Amino acid sequence: MTYIVNDKCISCKYTDCVEVCPVDCFYEGENMLVIHPDECIDCGVCEPECPAEAILPDTEKGALEWVQFNLEKSLTWPNITERRDPLPDADENLDKANKFKTLFIDQPASQNLRACTKTNNDL
Ligand code: SF4
Ligand code: SF4
Repeated sequence: MTYIVNDKCISCKYTDCVEVCPVDCFYEGENMLVIHPDECIDCGVCEPECPAEAILPDTEKGALEWVQFNLEKSLTWPNITERRDPLPDADENLDKANKFKTLFIDQPASQNLRACTKTNNDL
């Protein structure tokens, strides 16, 4: 079992989740985060911290399809271990539908590339 981040996170990046994760298993794309499924210890403390309700256990309906996405992106995006300011349009986009089609930017976080303290090369 693992927890995953789904498309509700896109364009928000409140990062409340990052602060509470005991094993630093969040990874940062340009406008969303993912969880590394093999690093997540299934503690569940991040789920209630997410204002977008984007974090779910993979046992939840519709969550299993996000496991592969979280794994693939966590292998190429930089690790994020500290809270950041949310994206400027976070509140505006919080409840938007079809975020994956209309808002998702498929690239690693540019702001975090230099700052990241742990990369997948270190794992
Ligand atoms: S708290 Fe939720 S919406 Fe914010 S970055 Fe974490 S997973 Fe994404
Ligand atoms: S369930 Fe626990 S280990 Fe997994 S991402 Fe959330 S806080 Fe981190």
